[in-house]
Amino acid sequence: MPTPADGNLSTTDEHSVSQDAELRFDGHGFDIESTAHKSLPGIPNAQAFKRRGLRAASSMLLDLHNHTRYSPDSRVDPAALVGVARKARLAGIAITDHNSVGGIAAAEAATDREFLVIPAIEVSTDSGHVLGYGIREVIPRNLSVSETAERIVALGGVPVAAHPFRFWSGLGPTAVAEARFPAYETCNGRTLRRGNIRARALARERKIGETGGSDSHFLDEVAKAVTVVDAGALRLDDVLQLLSQGRTSAQGTDRGSAATVRYVSKAVGEWILRGMRRI
Ligand SMILES: [Zn+2]
Ligand SMILES: [Zn+2]
Repeated sequence: MPTPADGNLSTTDEHSVSQDAELRFDGHGFDIESTAHKSLPGIPNAQAFKRRGLRAASSMLLDLHNHTRYSPDSRVDPAALVGVARKARLAGIAITDHNSVGGIAAAEAATDREFLVIPAIEVSTDSGHVLGYGIREVIPRNLSVSETAERIVALGGVPVAAHPFRFWSGLGPTAVAEARFPAYETCNGRTLRRGNIRARALARERKIGETGGSDSHFLDEVAKAVTVVDAGALRLDDVLQLLSQGRTSAQGTDRGSAATVRYVSKAVGEWILRGMRRI
């Protein structure tokens, strides 16, 4: 723990300290740790992964969690998001606005056959956030986890538990078990490292897939975490199939302690502005 302030903030960021202590996964933490603090200035994370040669020749990188101005807490222009992601040498991105699909069309209009835009949504359930990939219509908020997941599947989409161990907006250990997710988001760029490690440990225990996404709300956050898929899976159907089969993995950086201070103060400020309603 770097400072007392960080300690306080991080305990509020997860479900509880004691839950965290239940799990010891010394053998699993190194993946995330080894990629932390190695990023270069700007948006170089995707290139950094490729330079390190991690399956670069046979895989592609997708940032599967990005917000635009169609989320109440972001002002990012969807076309600008596509441009930045292409510069970061990603193969594609998902547009995952909070309870909205409004940004998808503009992002798709800004791309071509060389870069994949995945229509998606981040749904607020009664227990926390669920990502739906391959979704172009709004799924009502505040439904149960299982009903939300069922509606995503009924629309031909793939449900993934977003940052399941982030305090406040993650499903937590009980709700995450209510639906049969083919994958958990195990590397979320706005979740503290131990939350990501817990998600990863649970995904591996259940032998399901893992996804990574920056959870970007600003352009300079894009590509901080990515999902690794087999090269050649550049069509939407291919990616959805790999996701639904649990055949994806995750890489990236977690939220550092400096970012935690900014994030918490921003989140609390916005929460007050929203009339103390959750997103
Ligand atoms: Zn979320
Ligand atoms: Zn999000």
